[in-house]
Amino acid sequence: MNTNNIHPIFDRLLQREDREKRLEQKSKVLWLTGLSGSGKSTIAEALERKLYNEGFFAQVLDGDNIRSGINNNLGFSIEDRKENIRRIAEISKLYLNSGVIVINSFISPTIEIRNFAKSIIGETDFIEIYINTPLEICEQRDVKGLYKKARAGEIKGFTGIDSPYEAPLNPALEVKTIQMSVEECVDFIYKYIYNHINF
Ligand code: ADP
Repeated sequence: MNTNNIHPIFDRLLQREDREKRLEQKSKVLWLTGLSGSGKSTIAEALERKLYNEGFFAQVLDGDNIRSGINNNLGFSIEDRKENIRRIAEISKLYLNSGVIVINSFISPTIEIRNFAKSIIGETDFIEIYINTPLEICEQRDVKGLYKKARAGEIKGFTGIDSPYEAPLNPALEVKTIQMSVEECVDFIYKYIYNHINF
């Protein structure tokens, strides 16, 4: 390395902007919220693939890699749900700082809990996407058989059944999955976020 011509970047800690520049993207947190079975994970995974194919660098966070790992000591009480979201938001912030686009797939049922996540992540980096699917449809899909168990009283405090879901009042984007295929939902989100993530 020619030290006479050293770039100022070597004189200071690497910043998020440096990493964003290297990845040629702007990092954001896409926060997908919706009922169980609304389509969050399906859309998150397909969107992650689409972003990858388009040259972006993104990572899905969902129950599979969070609840089963770092948060495996948490249940579904009010306090534990809050702690679950706090850790997810803090992890998202680390990814943000690494220049990575984060796609979060969590029910995050209340306005308060999403505001809490937004306050940790920061308003300008938090893009709330409401995966809007009517409860009847989610229950018909019953992807994991959880609605049946909740109706039978085998699961207590299940969102939409005996625990409330508060829809976002002013989401950045609302995706109605009964009107669009998975691919159309992904394209719809991609078109919206493109200007936010393009370097
Ligand atoms: P969640 O992560 O919100 O609990 P999942 O993604 O696990 O929901 O399940 C959603 C189900 O709905 C999947 O079986 C998926 O194939 C189906 N589905 C039907 N149409 C759509 C759509 N337009 N977008 C997303 N999922 C859809």
